[in-house]
Amino acid sequence: MNDQQLLRYSRHILLPQLGVEGQEKILAARALVVGVGGLGSPAALYLASAGIGTIALADGDTVDLTNLQRQILHTTETIGRAKVDSGREALARINPETKVVAIAARLSGESLDAEVARADIVLDCSDNFATRHAVNRACVKHAKPLVSGAGVRFDGQISVFDLRDAESPCYNCLFPEDTDTEEFRCAVMGVFAPLVGIIGATQAAEALKLVAGVGESLAGRLLILDALAMQWRSVKLTRDSTCSVCCGRDQPAAIQRT
Ligand SMILES: [Zn+2]
Repeated sequence: MNDQQLLRYSRHILLPQLGVEGQEKILAARALVVGVGGLGSPAALYLASAGIGTIALADGDTVDLTNLQRQILHTTETIGRAKVDSGREALARINPETKVVAIAARLSGESLDAEVARADIVLDCSDNFATRHAVNRACVKHAKPLVSGAGVRFDGQISVFDLRDAESPCYNCLFPEDTDTEEFRCAVMGVFAPLVGIIGATQAAEALKLVAGVGESLAGRLLILDALAMQWRSVKLTRDSTCSVCCGRDQPAAIQRT
């Protein structure tokens, strides 16, 4: 690190758990942020301000007036532009050292596979189950840690699926793709603006911890936030041995409240 970097990241370096070594791991890391909306905005802002080396931003949408109430990466001036371009400019203003790769598409198939393979950490900030399951499958395939967040109305959820660990549950263990899960998309539902800020910032916190190798991640736990009561619940997760995505391993399915 040069003198400017030592200053810019000094409040991280002062943390004994991080120090120069942890910050250097952050500087060397590549994060894939899938979805540059309510969750992806705060997540990417904190990843960039914290100095993560490269952020791949993936989103096929353009900025709409209705996004601005919660998608804090975008501004009135960027309405109508690709979210990834709006996001790249906002991140460059905070930290020009972070390289931002803008992917103006909904990642799927081979492009998703390639981006997950390249990433050190994957943040699922998307708003639909098809993308969530596709991202999960790619993370299982490439054994990448996945930080998964969701939020609608006043209800948020976050967990880590650390798929570097062969015993880890995956997203599909928790929400099997073949079951009828009701889809609550922010595009058509109400969402309390700071709810996605809280969840997205928590995703950034988990991603930075995983990249730096510090603390204890949310792996094996699902946090559920009721922002109306401002209460968090923690639900213990274990792998579903019948999971169609990560099966072939022999752990019983169980979800217990802690
Ligand atoms: Zn699974």
